[in-house]
Amino acid sequence: MATDFKLKTKWEKYTVLALRFVVGATFVVSGFVKAVDLWGVEYKIADYLTAFGWDWAKPYIGIVAVMLPLVEFLAGLWLFIGSFRRFTVWLMLAMMAFLLPLSAYIAFANPVADCGCFGEAFVVSNGWTLVKNILITAALVFLLPRNHGLRSIYGPAVQWITVLLPAVYLLLIMIVGYNWQPIFDFRPYKIGTTIADDSADRSDFLFTYEKDGERRDFDVDNLPDSTWTFVDRKQVEVADNDNLRRIAIYDGEEEVTDDVRLADGDVLLLLISDISQINVAYTFKLNELYNNVSESGVNLICLTGNSESEIVQWREMSMADYPIYTMDSSELKSLARGNPAVVWLRDGTVLYKSTMDSADIDDILSGKPADEFVGRELHVFIWLTTLLFAAMALLLFINRSPLLIKLTKRLRKNQNKELPLHQNSQNQLNNHKQQTKMRKNIVAGNWKMNTTLQEGVALAKEVNEALKTRTPNCDVIIGVPFTHLASVAAAIDTDKLGLSAENCADKVSGAYTGEVSAAMVASTGAKYVILGHSERRQYYHETAEILKEKVVLALANGLTPIFCIGEVLEERENGTYFDVVKAQVEGSLFDLSAEDFGKIVLAYEPVWAIGTGKTATADQAQEIHAFIRKTIADKYGAEVAENTSILYGGSCKPTNAKELFAKPDVDGGLIGGAALKADSFMGIVDAF
Ligand code: PEP
Repeated sequence: MATDFKLKTKWEKYTVLALRFVVGATFVVSGFVKAVDLWGVEYKIADYLTAFGWDWAKPYIGIVAVMLPLVEFLAGLWLFIGSFRRFTVWLMLAMMAFLLPLSAYIAFANPVADCGCFGEAFVVSNGWTLVKNILITAALVFLLPRNHGLRSIYGPAVQWITVLLPAVYLLLIMIVGYNWQPIFDFRPYKIGTTIADDSADRSDFLFTYEKDGERRDFDVDNLPDSTWTFVDRKQVEVADNDNLRRIAIYDGEEEVTDDVRLADGDVLLLLISDISQINVAYTFKLNELYNNVSESGVNLICLTGNSESEIVQWREMSMADYPIYTMDSSELKSLARGNPAVVWLRDGTVLYKSTMDSADIDDILSGKPADEFVGRELHVFIWLTTLLFAAMALLLFINRSPLLIKLTKRLRKNQNKELPLHQNSQNQLNNHKQQTKMRKNIVAGNWKMNTTLQEGVALAKEVNEALKTRTPNCDVIIGVPFTHLASVAAAIDTDKLGLSAENCADKVSGAYTGEVSAAMVASTGAKYVILGHSERRQYYHETAEILKEKVVLALANGLTPIFCIGEVLEERENGTYFDVVKAQVEGSLFDLSAEDFGKIVLAYEPVWAIGTGKTATADQAQEIHAFIRKTIADKYGAEVAENTSILYGGSCKPTNAKELFAKPDVDGGLIGGAALKADSFMGIVDAF
């Protein structure tokens, strides 16, 4: 685990921000341009696999072609907006751990001409790709301990939506490009490109004349006057079509481009880039297409990148009557994506193209203008992108707007009033619990013997800052070492973030070297004190009697005790845990008056779950919390019991807090390990 640096200087903050922007944008662009053209990504991966001799991996090309742009795009976006700050940098570094050596190899061995990092949008040389990857890796190493120091745009509660929305968006972009044609055509044969032009090869003559030592060329329409002397005549080619990009078609060894008359009216090119990969189910479809097209007087020409023998095999198998010629297979794949695909030419110019599956040939044959279908990919892209931006902006608005948060809460409150209480879905139970109970929900951190003073103050400030952007449904408290109390009290808003000590002495004052009294704790500004934690019972032999004294002194000094109880594993396993917990409560607290008992917060912490990663299940917690409440009710009456907050402690994390807190008798958590990171602690706070 990398040690976290705090961002101390403005320079550091701006650098993190700038790197988030640059690296994030690079990944987003790289993922997006690939997603636009999945066919192209598949071809490129196939090139790599062929170059490495890894033909066994070819069946998995499809899944890699989808996952690669998706992960790149999402990781880039998360870095950009600051979501999943640690995970994102690790994820990107994991990708670079693979890509960096790969690009080094490609730069030196040159097994493929273009690395394909940015699809066909920008062709970056293999050397520059290596440089780019070194820079990105260096930036990520810089970001690893620092990215966490800058806030996320979206709070933790809505971060999962920043996965879902962009992922759905990108998958739709992929589907559009894969089934029609890429939304943005970065290849040479765009719509409007002329691939055959009878008039394009006109040649013309230029005449060179000389006068006073100066030589100049003139065309036949602008010859100079007789003061100029004729010197020479030369023939030049005149291409009067800027969009001309010829293709070369072969019949066996012989070039037949001019013979197939591509520039003669309407011609439908049926492109089969690889006959061996084409599904047999197409045989019938293609024959039918040929019949329909021929009946309409349109010339259909099939072009493939395969060998003569494969063509013969295809003819026999599919009973194809249409003419089949060959052309360079990479040019063929450039002409249109899909296998098979169709390209409609009018007078040699590309009018329409599509994969065979979504081709609108019948409509075009029946008179619908082909250009009506052109640009449909772009329209879908504009819609999808607008929707994505709108949804993300709305999400941000909801996430940030205190007004809206209040409004939603009020609405929820009103809805809950109307709900029948017997409906026992977890949410309703939880909402109902919050609406009806008098006791407080509390999430309290117990830092134990962790953090230096400086680290502790920084962590407290981070939690304090995080609370400014929220209206939590619970009281939030941090329990910090004695040495930190006064400084933390000065650094936070103690009205919003409660401050607790982790212990206090069982004596009022005097010759007790090393002890810290309840009065001293109170004088720092702390309002709470954690007492009876299992670690103090175990390592410092604090008995029920000692704890009783501590509780009395804490209350006398205006401190709220967060009193911990809980059984060890053996007691859980031999079933004595109810008795153990009951004895702990009775032994230290049941001499208090009802009024004083009402000031206590209880924390049930099964010792076997503390710091072990093992959590009591929500049902186990509910069972014992209900038992504790009943024990209190038996002694002090139902009202006191109902008003006592009973927290759960023991490996509580953002991932399990919600389920635990949803239980009717679990009123929050006492958090150890997860309280040492502001993010995870706030994740637990957000569980309410
Ligand atoms: C604790 O010690 O109070 C505690 C609950 O620890 P953890 O959350 O690390 O299990």
